[in-house]
Amino acid sequence: MKIKKLEMIGFKSFVDRTIVNFEHDVMGIVGPNGCGKSNIVDAIRWCMGEQSAKHLRGRAMEDVIFNGSESRAANEFAEVTLTFENDAGDVPLEYKDYPEIAVTRRLNRNGDSDYLINKTQVRLKDVTDLFLGTGVGAKAYSIIEQGKVGLIVSAKPEDRRLLIEEAAGITKYKSKKKQAERK
Ligand code: ATP
Ligand code: MG
Repeated sequence: MKIKKLEMIGFKSFVDRTIVNFEHDVMGIVGPNGCGKSNIVDAIRWCMGEQSAKHLRGRAMEDVIFNGSESRAANEFAEVTLTFENDAGDVPLEYKDYPEIAVTRRLNRNGDSDYLINKTQVRLKDVTDLFLGTGVGAKAYSIIEQGKVGLIVSAKPEDRRLLIEEAAGITKYKSKKKQAERK
């Protein structure tokens, strides 16, 4: 799974529809303080199912919605779509045949929240399942923020093991086993 495109509408400072194309294996985002670099990372994390407002540097989840400026009224909703290239074939069976997978998350100020995969409404669980074992995901190792490297190095062996298990692609089997045991 490789990110190809990020599309944001009303997300944090990106009130107008903004598209970032990930055309190269390595890309840098540069700009002055406060221009929205970290907001781009927040958008990726949010779209992949992040449930903690704090991890998105806000107090409540609605803080991800553009909250207005001197010249613009606040937005009623935030919407982010991440398009992935489905190259490694490590996605759940039902998505195997799609060359691209688009995941959308939308949140309204009134609290309505939607998740879509390829424009079809799904549950949050379907989004997290999609990423399990791919290395991508809100909790996976795909996003390493400031300070995280040190945390990984100094982590307890059990915690470090979790990261290695996700990288090796066995988290999904452990999660399925746990679910089966609960039934
Ligand atoms: P730095 O170089 O300091 O890390 P940055 O480019 O990473 O800066 P961000 O943290 O991405 O900057 O962006 C911060 C800006 O986003 C602030 O100006 C803040 O007001 C704006 N912002 C955050 N949430 C919202 C929101 N809900 N509505 C409007 N603007 C927002
Ligand atoms: Mg920043």
